[in-house]
Amino acid sequence: MKKNIRTFAIAMAIVFSNNMVYFAETESSLQEQIEQNNSNIQELEKKKNEIIDQIGVESEELQGVLNEIDSKSLELQKAQAEVEFYQSKIDGVQAEINSINVEIENANNEISLKESLIEEKKKEEEEAKGLLENRIRSYYKIDIASNMLYMILESKSLSEFFSNVEDVIKIMSMDKQLVQELRDIQNQLHNEKEEINKKLEEIEISKNSLVEKQEELLKVQEELLVKKNEHESKMNELYVLETEKTSIINSLSSQEEQLENEIGDLTAYNEELEAQLNSILNEINNNSGNNQNNGGTVNNPSSEGFIRPGYGPVTDDFGPRINPVTGVAGYHRGVDFADPYGAPVYASKSGVVAYSGWMSDFGNVVIIDHGGGVQTLYAHNSQLLVSNGQAVSQGEVIAYVGSTGMSTGPHIHFEIRINGQAVNPWNYL
Ligand SMILES: [Zn+2]
Repeated sequence: MKKNIRTFAIAMAIVFSNNMVYFAETESSLQEQIEQNNSNIQELEKKKNEIIDQIGVESEELQGVLNEIDSKSLELQKAQAEVEFYQSKIDGVQAEINSINVEIENANNEISLKESLIEEKKKEEEEAKGLLENRIRSYYKIDIASNMLYMILESKSLSEFFSNVEDVIKIMSMDKQLVQELRDIQNQLHNEKEEINKKLEEIEISKNSLVEKQEELLKVQEELLVKKNEHESKMNELYVLETEKTSIINSLSSQEEQLENEIGDLTAYNEELEAQLNSILNEINNNSGNNQNNGGTVNNPSSEGFIRPGYGPVTDDFGPRINPVTGVAGYHRGVDFADPYGAPVYASKSGVVAYSGWMSDFGNVVIIDHGGGVQTLYAHNSQLLVSNGQAVSQGEVIAYVGSTGMSTGPHIHFEIRINGQAVNPWNYL
């Protein structure tokens, strides 16, 4: 018998009401679908939690890699500083070597200058010697007797003769003296050159010691560079590891997000199914005469002086309800009237608009203050027609039906609040 009533009620649910067709599935198939969805949600939650665990593990590993990168980069910096320190030492020694090379070049230039001077003086000496030899030869080559005779004949007196002989001797001794002077200059130049050579040898010894020192520095630096390169290649390995870990975490996060979306879709689907189920149950209640309604309609105020905010059927009633996702007991603080999108929302009673605007879960909401701590609330509207502080009269259109905020379809979420506490609206409607 009960089943027959239900079948009738379901048939009644498929009626033209306020120009809208409300379609309902059978109660049991709805229940089954809801249960199926819930088990799917649980399955997805399990997978999501596994992925969150994996993300935890990977993140910990990534943190380890990042820590290693930090300590390695410190070591690398130290190695880099050491290499640079040695480089500055090497540069200093190189500068010394360069200035010594300049000294060596100067000394070599001086030496070649001395050598060319010596060469010059040698030539001059050769010439002077040649001159002297020529003179001597010409004196000795000539027949001395005839020459003497010539000088005697030519000389006007004996004294002139001696004076001529003396002149010859004088010239020859001047030639000799010139040769000697040239030889002295050459000796002096030789000495100077020797001194420069000695200096050059000293310079070269100190240069050799600098070159040795530089070779040692280069060897140490070479070792430091090897160490530095090792640090660098280790750093590169760590960077590769970091990139890998990051991409793993990103892919896990996107999987998690996808599961979250699927869970959200299923949750919304279940809310819709539950609304349908409630609507069917409501129809059953209405038809079996168990409605809590005490007489108020959209047009006629109840004995308490309230009217309904819309014509739509009740799709979710006031009272406790089990959250389909978490399984935790919750509470629906109002009554949902499933009016179509854009339908008018009526003020349940005259009053002053206490709030007209956005509230996250309620979307576009109107709250009317009726005095004496009594307020009515109309949520999820598509458009608001009143503003804060405005006086409204009962039955006045205050908004249009919508699905803003936490809502799965167009409806009016209607609450009556007394001193801030939501009460069962059916006690006043
Ligand atoms: Zn609601």
